[in-house]
Formats: sequence, C-alpha cells, structure tokens
Amino acid sequence: MRYAVGIDLGGTFVKFALVSEEGDILFDDKLAIGGKALRDDILSTVSKAIGLVIQKAGELNLKVIGIGFGSPGIVDGGIVHGGADNLNGWENINLSDLYSKEFGLPVLVDNDANVMGLGEAVYGAAKGCTDAIFLTVGTGIGGAIIANGQLYGGYKNRGTEMGHVTIDHKGIACNCGGRGCLEAYASTNALIGQYAKRSGMNDAEINGHYIVEKFQEGETAAVECMEEHTDYLGHAIAGFINTFSPQKVIIGGGISEAGQFYIDMIKKSAFSYVMPDCSRFTDVVGATLGNSAGCLGAASLIFKKL
Ligand SMILES: [Zn+2]
Repeated sequence: MRYAVGIDLGGTFVKFALVSEEGDILFDDKLAIGGKALRDDILSTVSKAIGLVIQKAGELNLKVIGIGFGSPGIVDGGIVHGGADNLNGWENINLSDLYSKEFGLPVLVDNDANVMGLGEAVYGAAKGCTDAIFLTVGTGIGGAIIANGQLYGGYKNRGTEMGHVTIDHKGIACNCGGRGCLEAYASTNALIGQYAKRSGMNDAEINGHYIVEKFQEGETAAVECMEEHTDYLGHAIAGFINTFSPQKVIIGGGISEAGQFYIDMIKKSAFSYVMPDCSRFTDVVGATLGNSAGCLGAASLIFKKL
C-alpha cells in the first residue's frame, strides 16, 4: 500500500492528513492560520503540518511517497500565481520546489476546489466515474471538472471558475468584476441576502442553517428563497450537463449537508432545463467526503501521477 501527505490550505486553517492509496485516513488534524498571517507565517505553518504527518507515518512505519497540496488561487506547475484573496501575499510562490527541497519528496499542487472535486471523484460521490462536475456552494461558488478521469483546468490551469458562468446577462454585479454570475445569485451569501430582503430581517441574524430550518417549517419567505436558490443552481448545472455530459454532478459545501431534499430540488430544476440526450447518463448527487475531500483529493494527485 502506498501513502501520501494530503494538505488542504484554506483561509483560516491548514488541514492535513496521512492518506492511503485506498482513501483511508490514518491520521489527520488542522492548524489555525491567523487572519493577519503573512506569507512566511503561512508557509511555516504548512511546513509544520507536513512535518507532523511525516512524523506520524514514521511512527506507524509507513513510507510516504509524496505530498499533495490543495491551495486557494491560480495554481500551475506547482506555483501559486495569485488570486487567493483571503491569504496575505499568497502569490508567485513555487510551493512544489519549496517543499520538495525541504522534505525530499515530490510535491504536486492544484487549486483547492479542484482537489476537493478530485477527492469526490476518486474516493467519494463519483467513485468509479470518469466524468464528473463538482460544485461547492458556500460564501462563494467554486468547482471542478473531471474529464476522462483527470482534472480539467483549461490552458495553464486558469479555468473552471464554475461560479462565474452568467445566468442573467443584465444581472447584478459579481465580486469577479463581471455581471449576473451564478455566484452572485446562488452562493450561501446571496441566499442570505435574498432571505433578509424577503423576511425583513438583518443579514447578520441569518445563516444558511436558519433558512433551511424555516424552509422545513414551511415558512413562505424561506420556501420561496430556497426554490429560487435551487433553481439558479439547476439552471447553471443544466448548462454544465449540456456541455460536459458528466456521469455525476456533485454538490458540496456546507449547505449541501442540509439533507437529500436540497439535492433533489437542484436535480429537479436541472433536469427541467437540460437536453435529454446530454443528460441520459447523468445524476445529481450530494458530496460524501465532507471536510476530508480536500486532503483526500490532494493525496490522490500523488497516487494518480506517481
Ligand atoms: Zn463572477
């Protein structure tokens, strides 16, 4: 059995795990990254995380063959080029070079949403599939495309910004500088804003969990908001299905854990817009790996490439 280190770097934590090729997690933990942490602090926290996993592998008498790394931002050739807005100074860093020198192991890096999607494709909701689309619905909307069993990232891995497809060409402004993007309508933040407007409540008093609870009680504002929210997602997913004809569309992110009803609503919407020939072999499913998707997917970068 082969083993790898899986690193999942986020805006507040670095998660890390010792992963077997079969997808078992033998050890995992996380270290906090302060909101004010500078580039060198983040780099040394990640270094500490990798060291802890390798130490644990040593204690268990297991040989680590490499380090897989999911990082926010645009990542190509082991280098994070930029675009990670929630990490200070996180640009133009050759992560692969840096950590392979420090630990004497191969280091493969990809974008964080990409590795989460890969994790679900290899070990989770789309296990056994060669073609899948992954969407994570949170404060923003990210995603990944797995085509022919590989991550697809476009030229120099700069694509697959699944949250930034247009669903209303004259729509509201998006964080990306565009207009009418899926993220501006269907992120958890957008949902909270829509519910605040309908219910007359203050944004700060609401979270996704609250809206789901009110939806389940049958409250009109919550029902309308959830129907609209899942319909936005369904519209965009129909476009992804028509383009990629995936075997699975996987919905992840905190709100996807609200229950099967949430996935069912999105699926019903998507299938009401999709082209039947394109969707014949497609299912829409919830993610199954939760918070472990990133570390598992990062480790699978190593197992797939080495
Ligand atoms: Zn956008």
